[in-house]
Amino acid sequence: MNDYLKEAIAIAQAQASVRVMNEEEIILFIQNVANNLKSIAESDEKEPDMPTAEMIAQARKSIKEKEVICLECGKTMKVITDRHLRQHGMDAAQYKKKWGIHKRVPLTCKYLVRERSTRMQAMQLWEKRHSRQEMEEHDDSQSA
Ligand SMILES: [Zn+2]
Repeated sequence: MNDYLKEAIAIAQAQASVRVMNEEEIILFIQNVANNLKSIAESDEKEPDMPTAEMIAQARKSIKEKEVICLECGKTMKVITDRHLRQHGMDAAQYKKKWGIHKRVPLTCKYLVRERSTRMQAMQLWEKRHSRQEMEEHDDSQSA
């Protein structure tokens, strides 16, 4: 006898003590309850949002210095794009959730992330300088 059936019988016994049930009703009741308990337990096991410790460890290793490995297909790239993930029927958020990657972690190899942030800083500096220059040039043209 499986656990669901045992539990269902216990519930049926409790039910039978509070209301009058004939044999058929009791059997039907037990069958229904056992099936429901089973499907609840099985849907719990199939929880897709919970990455296993193994998956998380694999995901952590997938973002390397010069490449990122797509955990879905094992392909090596510099950046895992949304376009690539669409082939697997998911977006970056779903991918990160599935593999237990923090949502603020970019799916980009480490050196590109660093390069990008230095380039951003350089660009901001350049923009500041450039806009000042433009103003000065503008002043010149006005005075000329
Ligand atoms: Zn892939």
